[in-house]
Amino acid sequence: MSRWLSKVRNRLTLWYVGIFGGILFAFICVASALHYLHLEDQLYHAEIQDMETIEGLLYFERDGRLSLREDYFISEEHRLLLDRLLEVLSMDGNILFRNTKLGNDNLGGARTANEGSADFFRHSLQLANGNHVLVLSHIRPIQGRTVLIRIGYSTEPIRKQSIQLFVLLLLVMPFALLVAGFAGSKVASKALDPLSQMTQLARTITAHRLNERIPIKNPDDELGHMALVLNDLLERLEDSFQQLRSFTSDVSHELRTPLASIRSIGEVGAQADYEPKKYRDIIGSMLEEVSRLTGMIDTLLTIAHAESGTLQFNRSRFPVNELVQDAVSIVRVLAEDKGQTIMLSVEDEVTLEADRSFIRMALVNLIDNAVKYSPEKTDIRVDVQTMESSSAGGPMVKISVADQGSGIPEEARERIFERFYRLDESRNSDAGGVGLGLAITKWAVEAHGGSVSVSSAAKGGAVFWMVLPITPVSSITNT
Ligand code: ADP
Repeated sequence: MSRWLSKVRNRLTLWYVGIFGGILFAFICVASALHYLHLEDQLYHAEIQDMETIEGLLYFERDGRLSLREDYFISEEHRLLLDRLLEVLSMDGNILFRNTKLGNDNLGGARTANEGSADFFRHSLQLANGNHVLVLSHIRPIQGRTVLIRIGYSTEPIRKQSIQLFVLLLLVMPFALLVAGFAGSKVASKALDPLSQMTQLARTITAHRLNERIPIKNPDDELGHMALVLNDLLERLEDSFQQLRSFTSDVSHELRTPLASIRSIGEVGAQADYEPKKYRDIIGSMLEEVSRLTGMIDTLLTIAHAESGTLQFNRSRFPVNELVQDAVSIVRVLAEDKGQTIMLSVEDEVTLEADRSFIRMALVNLIDNAVKYSPEKTDIRVDVQTMESSSAGGPMVKISVADQGSGIPEEARERIFERFYRLDESRNSDAGGVGLGLAITKWAVEAHGGSVSVSSAAKGGAVFWMVLPITPVSSITNT
């Protein structure tokens, strides 16, 4: 177990022992107090019995003195009665009798108002010698004369017994705390065990070992839930690292081709003496490759900006018609070179609020692909329609580009939107670009709250479409 986890365990154990100690101490106090009250109650009942005995033994002698017959049997269990304190008062307060145990002390002086209110009146008092006594008073007639009889017993023995019990329990307390501390520490260690395993594993995880996962014993408890969250995080990190790796290797691979081409053209030019026109051709070919390279680096930069979330959109309102015509006019020359016809069909006049340059770039990529990947003398249709979307919660505009080319096979329809992904035939043909066009189209449209998709066109070929919300989504997301 690591040092910080040991600290957590010790802190938990201390808290546990502290709380347990507090509760135990309170329990000991209450138990001792209850024990004392119970003994005092027993003493009270013994006093009532004794009072009844005494009342039968008191008598007035001929000279008017009150006496107590001492000729009754005292059993061993009544040994306590030997400690009895007894005094008898006449109703006007004169002392009629005091036993030798009481001597010159008294059990409360003159009669109080409470004495006589109950059959047996119970109260406590402290004698002159400091002893506490439990006093029982009773008023009754003896040989026709009403007297107040008071008997008292010292509560010192029961006080001592309760204190002994209290001390005994206090002496046991440290052992109980030791056992509790030991058990608490074991339980805390067991509870923190999964956390310890997590930290050990987390220490060993590096960029190369992101496939490791934290074992989950119980997914329903807090630690299991935390392990699930961490595993989820690891999975996302692994995905991102994987994407980064493949992106880096794809970029290197794509950069190598034009660079190799520039190099070989340059080497050919350096090998022999040529006419100035031939050199101009060689330089022209090299510049062509350089501009391809620059274009790719620009696109990569845009993607990098988009992914880092630093790209700022410049939103404005513009008619979709104008945007489509603008995009078509950019690609028209290429289409005319191949004898292709671009047909435009716009349903209604719609105004869109978005970053015009990014949406235009997305559309140009789709029309450019349609031109590149369809045979000569075919038709390309660009349609604009408005539609209601229940999921997006507002009107949408759908711009579709349909061609009569080879189409996109079902299994590649998801993947063509990935960076650097190209179908096999376009890899080998001169028409193909570097496989970034659709990736950037998808990003631009999705960042405006829309979506892109592809299916088969009615007359064969592919139909790509983008759907965008007419009213902008509250916050444009940079994905
Ligand atoms: P590229 O620069 O290669 O055109 P894109 O990302 O625009 O990159 O397209 C990815 C791949 O999807 C292309 O290489 C091509 O194989 C395929 N593709 C795109 N548009 C079409 C289309 N209209 N018809 C057939 N294949 C297409």
